[in-house]
Amino acid sequence: MNATVHWLEADRRFEVQPGETVLAAALRQEVPLPHECQFGGCGSCRVQLLQGEVRYGEWPFALSEEEAAQGQAIACQALPQTAELVLSVRPPVVYAEPAERKVNVVAVDWLHPDIARVRLALQDGQALNFRPGQYVDLKLAEGRHRSFSLASRSGEAMLELHVRRIPGGLFTDGLLGHLQPGDELTLKVPLGSFQYRAEDDRPLVLVATGTGMAPLRSIVLSLLDDPNRPPVSLYWGMRQANELYLDEEIRRWVEVLDDFRYVPVLSRADTAWTGMRGHVQDAVLADHPDLSEQAIYLCGSPAMIAEARSRFAAAGASLAHLYTDSFVFQEH
Ligand SMILES: Cc1cc2nc3c(=O)[nH]c(=O)nc-3n(C[C@H](O)[C@H](O)[C@H](O)COP(=O)(O)OP(=O)(O)OC[C@H]3O[C@@H](n4cnc5c(N)ncnc54)[C@H](O)[C@@H]3O)c2cc1C
Repeated sequence: MNATVHWLEADRRFEVQPGETVLAAALRQEVPLPHECQFGGCGSCRVQLLQGEVRYGEWPFALSEEEAAQGQAIACQALPQTAELVLSVRPPVVYAEPAERKVNVVAVDWLHPDIARVRLALQDGQALNFRPGQYVDLKLAEGRHRSFSLASRSGEAMLELHVRRIPGGLFTDGLLGHLQPGDELTLKVPLGSFQYRAEDDRPLVLVATGTGMAPLRSIVLSLLDDPNRPPVSLYWGMRQANELYLDEEIRRWVEVLDDFRYVPVLSRADTAWTGMRGHVQDAVLADHPDLSEQAIYLCGSPAMIAEARSRFAAAGASLAHLYTDSFVFQEH
């Protein structure tokens, strides 16, 4: 006998055939229940059962007996035991496919002589859903583009970029200096596989050099209201103290977030600097000689990323939990 499932939030009903799992039935009928691994390992398809019962051929790794007793179920392994199931789970966010979007410049603020915060408003006023860590391609004339990471929060119609001036650079040392509020630009958004992995719930070690802080800001903003936020250690490498353009904001995060550590590291500090000196990757290793239990995000200069990756691996970091966003430059 088929069972009927009612997914409350999405107000969708679907039939489950004998021997079929709840998730398999949902996907067969194009019901977008959240899911990832489909073998009971990740817990992405966790649902709350409000009515009815399920059983498992093999007990899913991602479900404890206490959680099952509280009515949680893992949909990819769950076989209905009753003719009706009512389940509750938030519908997944539908992320935008990369597309061209017009924006208007709201403000270009130079937070340091070589670092600008660029605020852009999406012309259609529609919020952009993206995965924290992703970037935009800014379209220039003659088919050129320049890539910049989104520093703002997903789900808003206002975007923020942090742009370092590259001496002689076509955009960052040219056009950027002439942008005025109201100017129209075209972006391709959102792009990139570098993104925060919520399913990787290890303690976070976030490491940036320079404007590599941009995608990390987006990641931290996404964690501010997350009750399941893992502990965060944020390392930021710069040359001199006046380049730490987000220092005040980050110190506010330290005040409001539990288990949030901030370590600015300067490679060319003057004598007044009392914080860490040297390269940011050395500071990480000094604090974490063993990196085997962390999820590590590296953003910024390709040189830092290459060195950090190999030295962190030597300190036990698992490459499956090491994510990198290398600010390489565009070819034309
Ligand atoms: C996925 C991704 C995300 C990025 N996110 C950011 C970001 O959030 N903020 C940010 O400031 N940058 C970011 N970058 C780097 C940024 O795209 C380049 O710095 C930018 O394209 C330079 O453009 P330009 O027209 O000013 O310079 P160009 O005219 O392209 O370059 C002029 C010359 O400067 C050199 N050059 C160019 N870029 C760099 C660089 N980054 N470092 C050293 N030398 C360079 C090259 O030799 C080049 O020939 C990102 C890059 C990628 C790939």
